[in-house]
Amino acid sequence: MDDTALDGNAIGGLLIEVFGTEMTTAVATCGSCGTAGPVAELAVYEHGLGAVVRCRSCEAVLMVFVRRHGVVCVDLEGLASLALWGERIRRRGWRYLPQLPPPGEQSFRRPTL
Ligand SMILES: [Zn+2]
Repeated sequence: MDDTALDGNAIGGLLIEVFGTEMTTAVATCGSCGTAGPVAELAVYEHGLGAVVRCRSCEAVLMVFVRRHGVVCVDLEGLASLALWGERIRRRGWRYLPQLPPPGEQSFRRPTL
């Protein structure tokens, strides 16, 4: 963890764009060490194409956001869960985008309600 880390509030707008709702208060559980806490408290590293979100306990990569061709590709593979208002957002419930993501990346689209 270095000094360039921001907190989860830095990607609040991006999260709204992806999930369609305020997500900084959602509880993220690390898939590596099991630490759970609000998204707002995670370590965020912004870069030109998006952002990488890491666990503050074990530094595992939890979420990766990459913007390409007007689409935000999201990799949530490092999360054990992401819970909002007591309701878990399951990875299985998310539809894959029709175009294939680059190797090692997964793209998600908000389910149609
Ligand atoms: Zn962790």
